[in-house]
Amino acid sequence: MKSFSQRTKEMLARLEIGDDCCCEAEMMGILMFAGKFKGLEIRVSLESLDAIERLAALVKRCLDVDVQIKSLRSSYFCVLSDKKVLHKILEYEKLKSGFSQKLIKNECCSAAFLRGSFLGGGTMTDPNKNYNMEFTVYSPQIHNEFKKLLENMGLGFRSIEKRNGFVLYTKNSDIICDALAHMGAFSAQMEILNVKIEKEVRSDITRTSNGETANMDKVMEASSRHIRAIDDIEKIMGIDNLPDDLKEVAHLRRDHKDLSLEQLGKKLVPPLSKSGVNHRLRRILEIAENL
Ligand SMILES: [Zn+2]
Repeated sequence: MKSFSQRTKEMLARLEIGDDCCCEAEMMGILMFAGKFKGLEIRVSLESLDAIERLAALVKRCLDVDVQIKSLRSSYFCVLSDKKVLHKILEYEKLKSGFSQKLIKNECCSAAFLRGSFLGGGTMTDPNKNYNMEFTVYSPQIHNEFKKLLENMGLGFRSIEKRNGFVLYTKNSDIICDALAHMGAFSAQMEILNVKIEKEVRSDITRTSNGETANMDKVMEASSRHIRAIDDIEKIMGIDNLPDDLKEVAHLRRDHKDLSLEQLGKKLVPPLSKSGVNHRLRRILEIAENL
């Protein structure tokens, strides 16, 4: 079965290709994160056919170069050796840091670059298991600039240095949702929101039922104190010798051990308030103590 991350990428890859200004940003996002130089060629390997087809379409649109797609076991790759493609990539390579100024022409282009970066080097965990989104990047310059770009979009990612590069990651579900929304992955964003709502509802139910149990415990504790007192009264003086108002409540308490004071009050004729019932039971407790 396909992972959540794969499904999200496939969905992104099938989005309509954006405005002209965004095409280069998205293409370069994929190439910077997934392209590997091999002599005078760049090899790009992606796990989904949709994603590699999208790269081919972007290269065609930006540079008018046809790209051959090949498949190898479970992944798909293409080899870019056309001078125009190499020239474009070297142009950005030379910029090292500062590439985003050239790449991000309008606000929309940041989102396109983010989408390309995710298709090329991003991954995320199924929100039902955990909240995690991360990008792996090998060049320190791309890492620094990408981190700044994310910050400018309001997406605060943390980063750790690994043996052969950097991982930018977040475990914050709000940031993940925002990042997905920027990329245009609205169905994935909705899935996370649904998981969050479900989790909140579940914890509300647990909290409520814990609260109900605690209340029930209190009711039973008070009730058993009353019953002990009523039993003592019955043994020593007899319940029927209590004043009428107390006699009525004492019988009711013995017959309905698990009712709250409020519920007991409703059973009286005429009904009595919770504090009225409480008052009578306190008098019963007092009588029992002084026997
Ligand atoms: Zn744009």
